[in-house]
Amino acid sequence: MKIQKSYIDDGSVLYLVPTPIGNYDDMTFRSVETLKNVDYIFCEDTRVTKVLLSHFNISTPLRNYHIFNEDVAYEDIINLLKEGKNVALVSDAGLPCISDPGYFVASKAIEAGFKVISLPGASASLTALIASGLPCEKFYFNGFLNSKQNQRIKELNELKDKKETLIIYEAPHRIHETLKDMYDVLGNRRIVIARELTKHYEEYTRGTLEEVQAEELNLKGEMVLILEGASIESNILELNNLSVLEHFNHYINQGIDEKEALKKVAKDRNVSKSDIYKEIKVK
Ligand code: SAM
Repeated sequence: MKIQKSYIDDGSVLYLVPTPIGNYDDMTFRSVETLKNVDYIFCEDTRVTKVLLSHFNISTPLRNYHIFNEDVAYEDIINLLKEGKNVALVSDAGLPCISDPGYFVASKAIEAGFKVISLPGASASLTALIASGLPCEKFYFNGFLNSKQNQRIKELNELKDKKETLIIYEAPHRIHETLKDMYDVLGNRRIVIARELTKHYEEYTRGTLEEVQAEELNLKGEMVLILEGASIESNILELNNLSVLEHFNHYINQGIDEKEALKKVAKDRNVSKSDIYKEIKVK
C-alpha cells in the first residue's frame, strides 16, 4: 500500500494537465500556472501544443510523448523525475489518459515512487454527458469502438445489456456505419450526438437510433455519442422472444444456478415455474 500526500510530501511530480477541447477560454488558471512552472512538458504533437503554449505565453521546453513512442518516452520522464525535475503531460485536447496517452507513464511513475497529480479540466466525455438529457447518475465510458466492423459488433454486443448511460467517441468518417451497427445490435433507444463541443458550431442532435439513421445528418467534426442504457423491460421483451430453453441458458451463461434461472424465466414470461420446468426438463 502507498499513500500519496500530493501537496504535503516533497519530491518530483508528474502533472496530468487538461487542455481545452476547442475553446481556449476553457484553459484553467491552474493548468497555465502548472505548465509555466514545470521543467518539461511532454505532449502528443508539438505542433498542436506549441500553438496553445504561445497563446498563454508559456515557454517551458516541449518534448514528445505519444502512443508510438511511449515505451521509450516514459523512461525519459522517469529519468527527469529521478533528477528532481517536475514534468507535465498534456494530450492534444482534453484530459490525458482518456482515450489518449498517459496511463502507461502515470502507472510507471507511481510504481517508481513519484507523485502523480491530475488537474481537473475539460473532457469531451463528461461535457457531452451532462447536457445530453440522459441519466448521468451512472454511466459507462467506452471511448472508441473498434474500427473493424466485426470487432465493433462484438463490442456492441458486450455493451448491449448495460443499464448505465453509454459514452462513446467516434470519428466522422465512421459515424454512419457505427450508427447502423448500434441500431442493429442495441435496438432502438435514445441517442444524443454531441458535436464540436465548446466551438462556434457546437450541436446536440437528440433523438432515437432509428431517427438519426433515417435522417441524412451532416455529421462532421469531433463528436461524442451518448446512448441510453438498456432498460430492464426491453431486455425482458427480447428474452421472451427466445425459446424457453434459450432464455433459460441465457441466465445459466451468466453464472446463475438452475433453480434461480428457472425462477427468473418464469417471472419474465409470467408463467408458473412448473410450466418452465416441464419444457426444459431440468434434472
Ligand atoms: N482526451 C480527450 C478527452 O478528454 O475528451 C479525448 C481524446 S480522443 C483522441 C478524441 C475524441 O474525443 C474525438 O474523436 C471525439 O470523439 C471526442 N472529442 C474531442 N473533442 C471534442 C469536441 N470538441 N466535441 C465533441 N467531441 C470531442
